[in-house]
Amino acid sequence: MNDIAATTGPRLFGDHFLRTLDAQERATVQRVRALCKHTIGPRAADVAREDVFAWDAFRTLAREGVIATAFPKAFGGTDARQALRIRIIEELGRVCSTSASMITGTDLSSRAIVAGASESFKQRLLPGLCTGELQSAFALTEPGAGSDVRGLHTTLRRTADGYVLNGRKKFITRATTADWFVVVGRAEESPSTFIAVLVPRDAAGFSISPEVGKLGWYGVPISSLSFEGVQVPLAQRLGDEGEGFSLAQDALLRARIGHAAMALGRAIGAVEIASSYAVDRSSFGKALGEHQGVQWMLADMVTQIESSRALLALTADKYDRGDSDVAIFASMAKLQATDLCMKVVTDALQLTGGRGYLQDFPLERFFRDAKLNQIGEGASEIHKTVIGRDVVRRAATAERNACLRAGSLVDY
Ligand SMILES: Cc1cc2nc3c(=O)[nH]c(=O)nc-3n(C[C@H](O)[C@H](O)[C@H](O)COP(=O)(O)OP(=O)(O)OC[C@H]3O[C@@H](n4cnc5c(N)ncnc54)[C@H](O)[C@@H]3O)c2cc1C
Repeated sequence: MNDIAATTGPRLFGDHFLRTLDAQERATVQRVRALCKHTIGPRAADVAREDVFAWDAFRTLAREGVIATAFPKAFGGTDARQALRIRIIEELGRVCSTSASMITGTDLSSRAIVAGASESFKQRLLPGLCTGELQSAFALTEPGAGSDVRGLHTTLRRTADGYVLNGRKKFITRATTADWFVVVGRAEESPSTFIAVLVPRDAAGFSISPEVGKLGWYGVPISSLSFEGVQVPLAQRLGDEGEGFSLAQDALLRARIGHAAMALGRAIGAVEIASSYAVDRSSFGKALGEHQGVQWMLADMVTQIESSRALLALTADKYDRGDSDVAIFASMAKLQATDLCMKVVTDALQLTGGRGYLQDFPLERFFRDAKLNQIGEGASEIHKTVIGRDVVRRAATAERNACLRAGSLVDY
């Protein structure tokens, strides 16, 4: 704990969660903090100015071993606990969504390879993905299947030595820079069987659209994909036939925890900026921060951020322990942190007045970036549905409140 405080000074938000990390993990957080302070933070506005892949940020994170935290030790990674990774992503999200998304995007695009590739494909791809010499992309969403992802139409027809892949994918991050694509489709002969496969970018019949303009998250462009009769050898299947959907869910689970951490980091950054403004700016004869209305806004922000951080830390612990209810907690953490981030960034921008609206001021970028966390890896409404359905399912068998009399409540 003291090791970190001694080199970076006190912050607005406490370091209480670092107590759960060991000395080596804290040293990693310290390295990321230094990187954010000296390199990533000062360069964030430039990185986010153009919607072309932010190679500098990616290479910096790869060189510093931050990308490697997502990969097993056997292939050059550090296999970091989620308890550490949420701290890393929070640090990056505090200054630069593009850099934070390099880490969540690595989880999304590589996790199915870690979990489902054959040993020889792991040997071939994972060391390069770890060092950043290779990149992968994750292709699940389609023009007709976004939130309702089970509605996908991409098909894989079985042949003697593999599959023939046909279909279209939409909104695929890193499509223009990835070397390999994790593609999820359904068996043509058995539509309820989902299959995940690896497709190289130069496969015959595979085409990638030009990059598509978007509101924020600059530096991580998206494109559409088209597969027309693409031959996929059997060795490029991930997991077994029928495991395509669970591999996708496994990748999304980690990426959801990452989205929550990124949103929290951005919310923290927004409050830091707004509260600095409240100190520097005078209005009506006193510092802006001395007005009670401003203090109440800041109070709401920090209180909700701290409770959201606690939920996310609990979720990361559940992931690291392998608890069976981690997916519901990931939904709650993502829903809570991303909706909260949108609100906090909006309020922080309000508190900084006209300056907050300037492109030269970071909150304009934070405001645009915040929106995607509420949409990607399951929109907020989808997570509400998942959580609510789980409550109703468990309520049917859960112990009833002791102040109720026995029998159905309908009989009251
Ligand atoms: C910048 C960006 C990067 C992306 N990167 C990737 C990627 O790398 N790989 C990939 O596979 N996908 C990617 N996506 C796709 C992303 O995961 C989807 O956009 C997201 O899942 C929502 O799907 P949709 O856009 O089709 O929205 P829709 O399914 O059309 O839903 C629209 C809205 O309707 C509401 N809604 C939908 N269903 C319900 C319901 N049952 N109840 C209540 N409300 C509902 C929600 O508010 C939702 O936002 C990316 C998207 C963006 C914008």
